[in-house]
Amino acid sequence: QTIQSPVNPSHAVFELFVQAQTCQDVKQHFAELCRKLHVDPKNSRSLYSTIKERLNFWKAKALWAKLDKRASQELYQQGTACINNKCLVLGAGPCGLRTAIELALLGAQVVVLEKREKFSRNNVLHLWPFTIYDLRELGAKMFYGKFCSGSLDHISIRQLQLILLKVCLLLGVEVHTAVEFQGLKEPSGENGWRAKIEPPSHPAAAFQFDVFISAGGGRFVPDGFQHKELRGKLAIGITANFINGNTTAEAQVPEISGVARIFNQKFFQQLLSQTAIDLENIVYYRDDTHYFVMTAKKKSLLERGVILQDFNDADQLLAPGNVDHVALCLYAHDAAYFSTGGQLPDLQFAQNHARKPDVAMFDFTCMHRSENASLVRERRGKKLLIALVGDCLVEPFWPLGTGIARGFLAAFDAAWMVRSWGMGVPHLKLLAERESIYQLLSQTTTDNTSKVYSKYSIDPKTRYQSVNLSSIQTHQVQHLYDADKSRPTSTRQKESGSRKSVSGYEELLKWCQKHTTGHKNVKINDFTQSWRSGLALCALIHHFQLHPIDISSLDESDSVHNNQLAFKILQKELGIPPVMSPSGQIDKLSMVLYLTQIKDALSLPPK
Ligand code: FAD
Repeated sequence: QTIQSPVNPSHAVFELFVQAQTCQDVKQHFAELCRKLHVDPKNSRSLYSTIKERLNFWKAKALWAKLDKRASQELYQQGTACINNKCLVLGAGPCGLRTAIELALLGAQVVVLEKREKFSRNNVLHLWPFTIYDLRELGAKMFYGKFCSGSLDHISIRQLQLILLKVCLLLGVEVHTAVEFQGLKEPSGENGWRAKIEPPSHPAAAFQFDVFISAGGGRFVPDGFQHKELRGKLAIGITANFINGNTTAEAQVPEISGVARIFNQKFFQQLLSQTAIDLENIVYYRDDTHYFVMTAKKKSLLERGVILQDFNDADQLLAPGNVDHVALCLYAHDAAYFSTGGQLPDLQFAQNHARKPDVAMFDFTCMHRSENASLVRERRGKKLLIALVGDCLVEPFWPLGTGIARGFLAAFDAAWMVRSWGMGVPHLKLLAERESIYQLLSQTTTDNTSKVYSKYSIDPKTRYQSVNLSSIQTHQVQHLYDADKSRPTSTRQKESGSRKSVSGYEELLKWCQKHTTGHKNVKINDFTQSWRSGLALCALIHHFQLHPIDISSLDESDSVHNNQLAFKILQKELGIPPVMSPSGQIDKLSMVLYLTQIKDALSLPPK
């Protein structure tokens, strides 16, 4: 007689979690899984390893193999690279969640805030090959079996969010929905940086962090950042989602992956003559819904009564009061019906988050782009690294389908920067590097990014074919270091005055000694003789990796050359001009001033 082992309840809950199709269900099944496995979800750093250890289920093991492979990349240093960092991510869109995954892999504690309660965006995104590869490697196919099967290269935003949310939760990221971020709260008393949120009583209001990632989408501009507006000719987009009954007949209708007017004049002329619909382009993807996106000409929208009154200003033109919603539905329906050759005869609108027909008209005449990708803010001695990712950094031009690709590239770049922050790289250096990489983002295409997707990591060199990490130098990013201007000048003067006090000298001396130990012919005892040969300055440069420098090849007796070299690098990399001549006498106060400036510029982020 064979005894059937009972179905393990935690296996069943894992299955429910993997298959969950709403944000609420994902969170609920995950909480249940943690309960079943006696795992404390608050224990973010050990959460993944404990779940892995306790869930001995073949299906889960296949997923662990994928996640372990990613986590084994050397640069995460086995999840310790950012072990002391706490990161707040604003927005659980695809880019916020993708960034959160990388930060968790680096070992940081990560909290994500999302103002929406549900993941309800049906719109379908075209994906670049590297993003498909990346998502597969995170287990996308296990969470969503249909993910990019065959030649499919698209996914709905909500499915993408669900996949990333599941990975986030497994890696110990806290994701709070229905929580709106309203601004940063400066450190006060014992508290560090916190967020002002709605509802204010939510536990996330108490979270203190040293990294803030803004992934709030296109029009979200965090305080301290400037957006540039790129204005083109008037462009009106329409998106429409229809119910997909998943019948064989529906599955046979060919998709349209970007028919632009210039490529198919005849199609657009026929569309105009038969339906009075005039389009610049149209895309049709079959996914959870039948998804259409098109750029419509204003004249035809006016003629078909979709837009009631003509205005030059796009906001006035598309204001809800100036749009006939029923006429808009008919317009989108007729365009969808015609462009699929009548093969979708029963087009019924899917519902949007408000349970209304999922059709939207929007203006993309103006695209926004942030002038810079990052900054460091310091208040009361507490530093905060702020980085933008996704549409919040660069809003994509949707017909090019670059949103997720550039969004993920920026997510990796931001994670790379957080890694440097965690490892104590001086903030001006990491800001300069981040801005150097950011310059490349808008030019990235599938052709000029590396094709070796298996080698992709957060290290920019694995992704961008030619990247110069120092095309922007530290003196060019000094404005991105926003130091405490709120403190009264008298306090700041007192503080800088105190640096010249005896304890200030000692502290400076100790700092110099600490960061030059181990270098031959460098012994720092004072602010004069010890610096004469120039080797001590070169040792500091070497220690902080400001510039590649081969100290062993320097001649101790050639002080002019050594000092000249150091002065040049320190001016170039930190923007600090020399205060003495390379061959002259060293004046103690000038040297203290010079070294104080160097120390301040290289000061480390809080641990
Ligand atoms: P979002 O997806 O906008 O997410 C931002 C999140 O932040 C949202 O969930 C929002 O609720 C939340 N949030 C905002 N403010 C707050 C706050 N104060 N507090 C808490 N949460 C907040 N991209 C492609 O790659 N391929 C395509 O084919 C493509 N087609 C497109 C077609 C159209 C019509 C449009 C409009 C866009 C298209 N895109 C496409 C672009 C793509 O949708 C975006 O690039 C992508 O969604 C950006 O992700 P994100 O995470 O940066 O921002």
